Amino acid sequence: MCGIVGYVGNKEVVPVIIEGLRRLEYRGYDSAGIAVGGNGDGLELRRAPGKLRNLEEVLNERPIHGTFGIGHTRWATHGRPTEENAHPHRDCSGRIVVVHNGIVENYLALKHELAAEGHKFVTETDTEIIAHLIEQELESAAESGKTLSLEGAVRRSVRRLTGAFAIVVISADEPNKIVAARFGPPAVIGLGEGEYFVASDVPGILHHTRNLYFLADGDMAILTPAGVQLTDFEGNPIERPVQRIQWDPIQAEKGGYKHFMLKEIFEQPRAIRDTTLGRVSLDTGKVFLSEMKISDEDFRRATKINIAACGTSWHAATAGKFMIERLARIPVEVDYASEYRLACSLLSPAKPRTHSPHSAR
Ligand code: GLU
Repeated sequence: MCGIVGYVGNKEVVPVIIEGLRRLEYRGYDSAGIAVGGNGDGLELRRAPGKLRNLEEVLNERPIHGTFGIGHTRWATHGRPTEENAHPHRDCSGRIVVVHNGIVENYLALKHELAAEGHKFVTETDTEIIAHLIEQELESAAESGKTLSLEGAVRRSVRRLTGAFAIVVISADEPNKIVAARFGPPAVIGLGEGEYFVASDVPGILHHTRNLYFLADGDMAILTPAGVQLTDFEGNPIERPVQRIQWDPIQAEKGGYKHFMLKEIFEQPRAIRDTTLGRVSLDTGKVFLSEMKISDEDFRRATKINIAACGTSWHAATAGKFMIERLARIPVEVDYASEYRLACSLLSPAKPRTHSPHSAR
């Protein structure tokens, strides 16, 4: 899962965000990006595939400045790890910018709906639809003669999402404001003196402040230099206790646990939830085959399953072999991924299509 850092205050925003993202590097990522505002009209974006230092090189070549902004290190779930797919993502106007941790399960349906209304998509991600949803909400309010704030539009948009998300949004039209919403992946808000932070995890902001709000599912936070306002997705004000974190940076990386091993043991439920997110519903057991790019019919035609894996995933695959064979009654073979190319594993042909026009004759 990704790393997120956002800042609003009077410091130069880029170093605050880059340093925060660096402290979240242990999460693993494939690309990084940043959007800042507060230095003239509009928001400036820089993105780069690969390591954070690639983004830093881009920023050295084409510097940007501002007093509020958001940054992201991406762990791709939808779309390749390219510069175009790196967050932040924008609406059609480029004035609304979003970073996202998680998966929007109903993004395809929303994408079709928005595209039919004329919204133009330029990435392969699920995240991009969030920026367009916010744009759509603002436009439809304007068309009916109403003014809707950024937080109002975010609130309406998140109510239309299914899946898991921690999102952070800024708009060129409402400078020095950051809106965050959480449903699933963690989000913390850092409270400073005339400056406020948002991050996907404590180490991203702990070097600036020890006073934090931990957002719960269904919480939103609106950050401005004047303070932080917390609401639910309906807009009702809520209260969360300010937690004073005593951890040093190493303890923070360990999430307060004594050892990394303990942290990882306790993170297992979340790790499983994150892994299956958007692929299998843990509530209904429904498998989202469209996300696997295999049709239901093709899936049923499989006569054998080959799993290529390494190390821990090889052990997991070996356990999976027994489960799949017992449940699906399909033979499973597990190979070392590093040797798979050389092993000349015999792949079985799929069963013929039963519903195709040819087989029906
Ligand atoms: N689903 C989003 C994407 O693929 C966010 C992934 C993440 O959490 O980094 O871009």
